Amino acid sequence: MRTLLVPGLILSSFLLLALIGSGSARRPGPESRTVRFPPASHPNAHYISNRPPLTVSPLVKLPIGSVEPRGWLLSQLQLMRDGFTGHLNEISQFLKDDSGWITLKARGWEELPYWLKGYGDLGYLLKDPGIRKETERWLNYVLKSQQPDGYFGPADNKAASDLWPNMVMLSALQSYYEVTGDRRVISLLSRYFQYQYHIPVENLLPGSWQKLRGGDNLESVYWLFNRTSENFLIDLGRRIFERTSDWTSPILTPDRDKNWAESGYYHGVNITMGIRQPSVYYQQSREWKYLDAVDRNYRQFMDEYGQQPGGMFGADENIRPGKADPRQGAETCSMVEFMASFESLLKITGDPVWADRCEEIAFNSLPASMTPDLKALHYLTAPNLVSCDSSGEHDFQNRGTLVSYDPWNYRCCQHNVAFGWPYFAEHLWMATSDNGLAAVLYAPSAVNALVGDGAKVAIIEETFYPFGDHADFTVGTERPVEFPLYLRIPGWALQVRIEVNGREVGGEFAGGDYAVLKRLWRHGDQVRLEFPMKLKVTSWPRIGNAVSVQRGPLWYSLRIGEEWKRYGGTDAWPAYEIVPTTEWNFGLLVNPANPGATIRVASQKTPAYQPFAPAAAPVVLKARARRVPGWQAEGRMAGPVPMSPAEADGPAEEIDLIPMGCARLRISVFPTVRK
Ligand SMILES: [Zn+2]
Repeated sequence: MRTLLVPGLILSSFLLLALIGSGSARRPGPESRTVRFPPASHPNAHYISNRPPLTVSPLVKLPIGSVEPRGWLLSQLQLMRDGFTGHLNEISQFLKDDSGWITLKARGWEELPYWLKGYGDLGYLLKDPGIRKETERWLNYVLKSQQPDGYFGPADNKAASDLWPNMVMLSALQSYYEVTGDRRVISLLSRYFQYQYHIPVENLLPGSWQKLRGGDNLESVYWLFNRTSENFLIDLGRRIFERTSDWTSPILTPDRDKNWAESGYYHGVNITMGIRQPSVYYQQSREWKYLDAVDRNYRQFMDEYGQQPGGMFGADENIRPGKADPRQGAETCSMVEFMASFESLLKITGDPVWADRCEEIAFNSLPASMTPDLKALHYLTAPNLVSCDSSGEHDFQNRGTLVSYDPWNYRCCQHNVAFGWPYFAEHLWMATSDNGLAAVLYAPSAVNALVGDGAKVAIIEETFYPFGDHADFTVGTERPVEFPLYLRIPGWALQVRIEVNGREVGGEFAGGDYAVLKRLWRHGDQVRLEFPMKLKVTSWPRIGNAVSVQRGPLWYSLRIGEEWKRYGGTDAWPAYEIVPTTEWNFGLLVNPANPGATIRVASQKTPAYQPFAPAAAPVVLKARARRVPGWQAEGRMAGPVPMSPAEADGPAEEIDLIPMGCARLRISVFPTVRK
């Protein structure tokens, strides 16, 4: 076996580490090494990435089609195709031919671009001719709508100086271009950004969503710059950044606490999008303060409102001061936008912590936002949610129906959720600046890419992750080729083992690093990555020392009996309430220092076509618990989690815990109880 450690690679890695100012590079063994960040010395030779004056990206998104989802991830996309996303044009009043996106005169706002952005990518990933045809039909209207001054889209939005819906449409157009190479997209974007460039600065992004979400517009400006090198785009980038709301300063402030209902900065979806905005501009400004701001701001609101499993934070429209317990919901739009922000941050910084955070939402919160058949969704998902009914007897900012599952309701989420799984699939693998490949998010897949000196490789990733504890990679290559293969080591992982062609690779692979295997790869080479999943109990000091159970990337929830009751919709597209048929007020008999004493893995099975369903749960845990009679419902919600240890009653019994993403009704944050 040849071992290759190229001095230049190590040097470039140290250079980046010196620039980023944290982390450490180690050389654990003769065949591999670990890095905290992939290098960012010079641009990838095979794929379009940042051009000067933008910073070099350590990770580069591969063109759509390079990554093929397989296994359970492919089935999510197929279920989307067969579910409400694939048929939303039959359901949603916003996707009819009287849309302003066709007539240009009628109202046409965010809904169509929200849907098209995910629906189009779904069609490209599935190579589905019907979805592609329908996507192109809509995009042809968009491409033809451009006015002599460069504006495109409905006239109403232009009259209102509202650029927000177009920001979303730009993403749909970029995906379409990546797949087709249709130059009309480049022309439209270039003329549209000229239009923006000629708006007097004081009138650019005057207020509302567009001002808060200008970071999305900025990303599209850089996307075009990397393809055309038009200098005005760099000027425009600076202007857009300056005219976008300030996401560099701390997000939570005493003034905003007082006016939380009015503050756009406290709106969950704005936060999940705005969080990445300073780092997007960092690519142009090269000032560290913008990267620091993202880390600091993320910690600020997660420490306060994100003390819960599943990767989200309580903002059931807005963050509500004082409402930080696990009954507070997160909007489905916030989940997919947070994931997209983390995918972008991963690309810009290379920091694998963003991959951990993206997976946490994808594997735990996102599946629970939809019915297992992906034929309906709800607006709010919470770690402790014991009734998905249509009543208003829940303490949320908005009144009315928010947690029942309905394909007809929840206007923004109904359309916007479409891009969650497709974008996740597209980001499983990325190219590195040293012409290698990085497995950054784990799921069954195959990747086809150019590496090293330009050889084509295909790597097949076989895994049951996040339900299984290892991944097997098989390299296919037209000729032997040297390139670095980066494997992200999840932050939770301990005692990681790596084998190449059956031989253990020396070294210590710590969670939060990348293992780098740089060698002459030959056709048929095999890599095995093992990350044993240990039981872990996390305490939440701000929730009265309540606890949650984790194993690898999955959080676990009490299995609650579900009764599904149809309350609306049509026979083809019904709306359901889900109400509990079993008790949920359990406290756990658990010692966080030794979770294995009272919690055990009861069963493990191969993931089904749809593993995110209670009966299909690929992993089931058994935990010792006792009833807590004082923990009762408030309206249709679970009451606040009692202080731990809570007063328990009756004997200890064994309860089932299933992955949070499998449970539509759940308790995921438990009080502890004594024997
Ligand atoms: Zn929404």
